[in-house]
Amino acid sequence: MIPYGRQDVSEEDIAAVSQVLRGDLITQGPMVERFESAIAAYCGVPYAVAVSSGTAALHLAYLAAGLGPGDTGWTSPNTFLASSNAMLYCGARPDFVDIDPGTWNLDPQALEQKLKHCAQAPRILVPVHFAGLSCDMEAIAELAGQCGATVIEDASHALGGRYRDLPVGACIHSDMTVFSFHPVKPITAGEGGMILTRRADLHEKLLLLRSHGMTRDPAKMTGESEGLWYYQQVALGFNYRLTDIQAALGKSQLQRLGDFTRRRAALAARYDALLADLPLTPQQRPAEVMSAHHLYVVRLDEAIDRRRVYDELRVAGIGSAVHYIPVHTQPYYRQLGFYPGQFPRAEAYYQHALTLPLYPGLTEQEQVSVVSALRGILQ
Ligand SMILES: *Cc1c(COP(=O)(O)O)cnc(C)c1O
Repeated sequence: MIPYGRQDVSEEDIAAVSQVLRGDLITQGPMVERFESAIAAYCGVPYAVAVSSGTAALHLAYLAAGLGPGDTGWTSPNTFLASSNAMLYCGARPDFVDIDPGTWNLDPQALEQKLKHCAQAPRILVPVHFAGLSCDMEAIAELAGQCGATVIEDASHALGGRYRDLPVGACIHSDMTVFSFHPVKPITAGEGGMILTRRADLHEKLLLLRSHGMTRDPAKMTGESEGLWYYQQVALGFNYRLTDIQAALGKSQLQRLGDFTRRRAALAARYDALLADLPLTPQQRPAEVMSAHHLYVVRLDEAIDRRRVYDELRVAGIGSAVHYIPVHTQPYYRQLGFYPGQFPRAEAYYQHALTLPLYPGLTEQEQVSVVSALRGILQ
């Protein structure tokens, strides 16, 4: 079976992990900070905080932004559940902004309209860089500035991508950026996530929240420190720590990110060419954005039965996928008051979307067999 995505773990990656396992500290040792520094340097930001998953990263970013009961947060309906679930964790109400019909990213024009007509401006705005393609961050940041929202980029798909010549994660048009290191994502730590920011105040909050709200810094304590063993809890935090084992894998993978991204881009360009005469449309990629090519998604023409295509690809040993079922149509979200028809572009896109296999280890031969199987089914 050719999967739609998979990790690429090298002998060097394994050696990096083994080295940690043979040492004294397998969590809260030096690797986490090294991984954080390496990602921060790659993205050109001063601060990065590693956590146990992308979902944990979103949760902490939202809390650091002050999201709480009575607030709303807006994101794209074309995303993984985590982007809006983490708002619910904070006791806030999620809401959605419909997508652009070509890029399938949160549409700044829809955002502008929604801001004009809303009763309550959102506390946070969470653009999702779908399939690795950055949203139009200049337009989104401009609108966020007008309504006072904190901007948090859900860049779970987009490490390695660029927007207007800066790496995604540079946080020029946002307050924070979140990455995921799940095995199908651009690089993996097994599980893991990271929050990047330029703001020292957010960085401090994130560090506290990651580990129970505990501090060992006398400057942050009320009253005197009672000795070197002493710590205080000054906020309610979590155990969202990443292990050194995971950080070693993540840091080793980061050294291969350039190769991964180039390979993904080459395979995506090849798909573009090989599929050009078929009744489908790939994701529109604006010139100012360099996608990380996390997913290769096509929209099949209206007349095609997507379910049949998916099933027949499966029989041919090809694992396609569908990204995403619009979050607001999920039973849990309907029970919160959302309903089908509310975000029609995301829903129409979903009806015809199909994700084809794309990962660094996909061979050209495998790609040709994906394309010929698809061609056979569509013709
Ligand atoms: C993967 C993903 C997440 C969650 O990341 P985990 O590391 O799996 O918790 C959040 N948002 C999007 C868009 C994702 O694809």
